[in-house]
Amino acid sequence: MFIGPPGAGKGTQADRVAERLGIPHISTGDMFREHASRGTELGEKVEKIMAAGEYVPDEITVRMLEERIERPDAALGFILDGFPRTPGQVASLDSLIGEYGLDRVVVFKVDQDELMERMLARGRADDTAETIRNRFDIYMEQTQPLLDIYEERGKTVEVNGIGDIDEVTQRILAVLNPPGARHVADEEE
Ligand code: AMP
Repeated sequence: MFIGPPGAGKGTQADRVAERLGIPHISTGDMFREHASRGTELGEKVEKIMAAGEYVPDEITVRMLEERIERPDAALGFILDGFPRTPGQVASLDSLIGEYGLDRVVVFKVDQDELMERMLARGRADDTAETIRNRFDIYMEQTQPLLDIYEERGKTVEVNGIGDIDEVTQRILAVLNPPGARHVADEEE
């Protein structure tokens, strides 16, 4: 699982790491954006919530996520990006994959000013200064506390999200250290 404040580069990195490991990148944000762009019933329901930078209700998010991780391509593993974000979502994930079902929780560390710059630069529909601030506040209030839960379970690893995209990908691969994979870090020993 990848976790960190909005704009930390989780989505970009999750795409790259998923590709390297040959497992799907599951992003609830991407799934909601896809629904919104296709104009589905769910898309219409979540569009305003996303534009305001608020969280979609757990009931909706959990149902969508559950359907996704039950698909056969996720059977051997997946990278979760942007889920769980609330205590209720942690509880749902626990009941889906077990309390120790996640191999690693990768915590993205990025400085605040850098985050604001990155988000304004990518120009997404929900990246206006006001929405960005709101998303930060909600992250700090609702999602950051979840780190305590995963720290207690001994699953967290911190990654410095600042720097060259390739370099950050290498840092993540090094801390994930999936069985059978060889990394630059291994060879340096
Ligand atoms: P993201 O691409 O992860 O930044 O998500 C974009 C937006 O989708 C968020 O600001 C929320 O409105 C919504 N969203 C994505 N994942 C979740 C989640 N796990 N719980 C609630 N809302 C979510």
